[in-house]
Amino acid sequence: MKLLVIGCGGVASVAVFKCCQNPVFTEICIASRTESKCVELADRLQPNTKAKLTTATVDADDFDSLVSLMKEFEPHTVLNVALPYQDLTIMDACLECGANYVDTANFEPEDTDDPAWRATYEKRCKEEGFTAYFDYSWQWAYDEKFKKAGLTALLGTGFDPGVTSVFTAYALKHYFDEIHYIDILDCNGGDHGYPFATNFNPEINLREVSANGSYWENGHWVETKPMEIKREYNFDGVGMKDMYLLHHEEIESLAKNIPNVKRIRFFMTFGQSYLTHMNCLQNVGMLSTTPVMFEGREIVPIKFLKALLPDPASLGPRTVGKTNIGCIFRGVKNGEEKCIYIYNMCDHQECYKETGAQAVSYTTGVPAMIGTAMIASGTWSGAGVFNVEEFDPDPYMDALNKYGLPWVVDENPVLVD
Ligand code: NDP
Repeated sequence: MKLLVIGCGGVASVAVFKCCQNPVFTEICIASRTESKCVELADRLQPNTKAKLTTATVDADDFDSLVSLMKEFEPHTVLNVALPYQDLTIMDACLECGANYVDTANFEPEDTDDPAWRATYEKRCKEEGFTAYFDYSWQWAYDEKFKKAGLTALLGTGFDPGVTSVFTAYALKHYFDEIHYIDILDCNGGDHGYPFATNFNPEINLREVSANGSYWENGHWVETKPMEIKREYNFDGVGMKDMYLLHHEEIESLAKNIPNVKRIRFFMTFGQSYLTHMNCLQNVGMLSTTPVMFEGREIVPIKFLKALLPDPASLGPRTVGKTNIGCIFRGVKNGEEKCIYIYNMCDHQECYKETGAQAVSYTTGVPAMIGTAMIASGTWSGAGVFNVEEFDPDPYMDALNKYGLPWVVDENPVLVD
């Protein structure tokens, strides 16, 4: 099966590494803006895989550039691990060329000042009650087009979103008649030794973290100020950590796809140093996406900041510690209340030794490969646009164990108040 991977950053490096271990992928073309990164990755992986690796340059913001590459390579499936800004253009090109589509993050515009986008956004803020720049409406709107074309689009197969939603489908299938409360806990206990760095693309990461938080409760969104809700939790393998409630994209799809759910919250751990740096950068305007004039040329502050911060792909050798990501579910089975916690722990140094990347890229890249393999092998099939929790979770859960993200089920977890 021919796979086109778009993007060649931290997540892509792990996804392609793992695709090379899965015989379903016989030819893989790695295409990105900077082809030298693709060549370096292909050269490193080719000696140890039967898959044929090739590379290409592509500007994924440019429909014509995507279409000409896809017409030449004729992929069965395209894995988009570039940036969320390119989701819609890549989906359009997949429709044009008859390829299935897979990604790990929902659409977000690069230019949040664009008046056409802003009008739709402001209407959605009013109607839905959350103000995040990213949401699923743009990609869900492609459902009819993918149905008509007889193609599959699988959205959000990273860890969160991705594995957390598969954990939810698995809990519902095997442990509950109804799930009422979901708390998604994302803990990174890793230390990279820098005063400040982000574990994945700084622009995407800082936009997400500095925005308002929100959670789903009794059929509607409740929005909070950034970092307004704080809890402490004692994570297996990591220890006690502060965690903060954020808006997160899987809340939106789980609210739609899990019947009778009453509340869904998402918490992520942050150290005080990270928050102090981020607040300072925000206060001086460095997180802004609005261009400013500097010495006669236009610069976008957050893009300039990105150029100064360590490349997330370079954090691998220096990051030590573990991640622990999972979901606590409360609901009913046979009329009795019950509660379980499904989670995965991942060690940064072990990930680095295996793939050359730290655990945040690893925990995203492995599920990116698994979701793509589900579509490529026909294990998951259907025409239209889908989120991962809409398919049978069992083969995906087996693949997590097989490809390096083993999970555990704790039937007596400590709850988050
Ligand atoms: P990186 O910034 O490390 O890599 C992004 C890659 O995309 C780079 O190779 C970049 O090229 C390429 N790219 C950017 N713009 C274009 C373009 N216009 N055309 C072609 N290529 C382009 O990001 P990550 O690897 O950390 O993240 C990848 C994706 O994974 C993101 O969408 C992120 O949001 C998502 N993610 C999802 C998670 C989850 O759990 N679901 C968790 C973490 C990340 P260049 O090298 O030239 O800059």
